[in-house]
Amino acid sequence: MPEKNFPLTGEQLKEIIKEYPTPFHLYDEKAIRENIRALKNAFAWAPEFREHFAVKATPNPRIIQIMAEEGAGTDCSSLAELYLSAAAYVTGEKIMLTSNDTPADEFQKARELKAIINLDDISHLDYLDKCAGMPECLSFRYNPGDLIEGNAIIGKPTEAKYGLTRDQLFAAYALAKAKGVKRFGLHTMVISNELRSEAFIFTAKLMFNLAVELKERLDIHLEFVNLGGGIGIPYRPEEKPVDLTFVGWGVQQAYNEILGPHCLTDIAIAMESGRAMTGPAGWLIATVLHEKNTYKNYIGLDACMANLMRPALYGAYHHITVVGKEREPHDHVYDVTGSLCENNDKFAIDRALPKIDIGDILIIHDAGAHGHAMGFNYNGKLRSAELLLRENGDIELIRRAETLDDYFATLRYPGGLV
Ligand SMILES: *Cc1c(COP(=O)(O)O)cnc(C)c1O
Repeated sequence: MPEKNFPLTGEQLKEIIKEYPTPFHLYDEKAIRENIRALKNAFAWAPEFREHFAVKATPNPRIIQIMAEEGAGTDCSSLAELYLSAAAYVTGEKIMLTSNDTPADEFQKARELKAIINLDDISHLDYLDKCAGMPECLSFRYNPGDLIEGNAIIGKPTEAKYGLTRDQLFAAYALAKAKGVKRFGLHTMVISNELRSEAFIFTAKLMFNLAVELKERLDIHLEFVNLGGGIGIPYRPEEKPVDLTFVGWGVQQAYNEILGPHCLTDIAIAMESGRAMTGPAGWLIATVLHEKNTYKNYIGLDACMANLMRPALYGAYHHITVVGKEREPHDHVYDVTGSLCENNDKFAIDRALPKIDIGDILIIHDAGAHGHAMGFNYNGKLRSAELLLRENGDIELIRRAETLDDYFATLRYPGGLV
């Protein structure tokens, strides 16, 4: 079985833990840079390729800054994410606001930052106009309905709250044009954690055909087509990563075939990959606090689903290794749990692992995207620190762990914290 990567030795990790107690998230700068470069290379053929890193995957300005150094902008879907972007000096059309059920303050902030606004509904045209004024450039999010199947994370497009139907899309572009919008983009995001290359090529074809139709029906020459995020990662060791070179090649064929005859081969390609950029480059590090043997064998960690919710939320698989025991036989079966008063607070169920002892360090893999980001305070759990392993081997604290003071900061109550 292929091994999962981890950039440090057990000894190095234990040194770090002396300074930064577990649990914490660790990100590998080198791996993040390699991931974004691989994506850019796959689309190097395009007249212009724009990656808008999906901030919600790893909402930390230091991570956004690394992305920006590699030429990427951001994809934001909340007010805070717009501010996070600006905090990393990513502004202007490097930002794409792909929001839904959007409040006025998001549109206003996006306009202030001169971000590209991607509208989720035809009715948002008037709303945007009233609350923030019409921008020069606008994009719309297409929901292809039953043309695409969907999966457990994103659901079926026909059941999804996002985007405009095909008919609405044409009406919206016409209306935007009438309102004076000069430059246009087109967006969709219909797949999530997708490992099949064909899915991306299929989506691209759909979008390129729409670009042709927009030109023919409304004389709108799109400036960019944004294929969204959704590039999956091999959470299970036996899974294979998406072959980005093949995806890039397939999209290029479709681009030339569909757009070529219509002289539309100046359209930029944009993506909003989050998971594939930071997911495999991040780990949740935890220490074993307890072992408990009842009807099953439980290993209790100092981390819980507040640090990584995906297993509890989607039954998602995250690979787990035990530091120093990587080569030992996996002849024990455990449920690996956190301490939340929720029975689904389990990182793994019936997982074959080496014999685990109290004090062992566990590495939970592929936690770099939608990991810390989904953290929450239920049960009074505090969110952990985030550490960055620099390319030169240094460790940089990029978010400190929450304290009880943070937890109490929003409360108004008699007395004080003792
Ligand atoms: C979540 C999200 C993304 C990122 O998806 P990944 O699976 O992390 O690549 C991109 N765009 C939009 C609109 C999203 O909601």
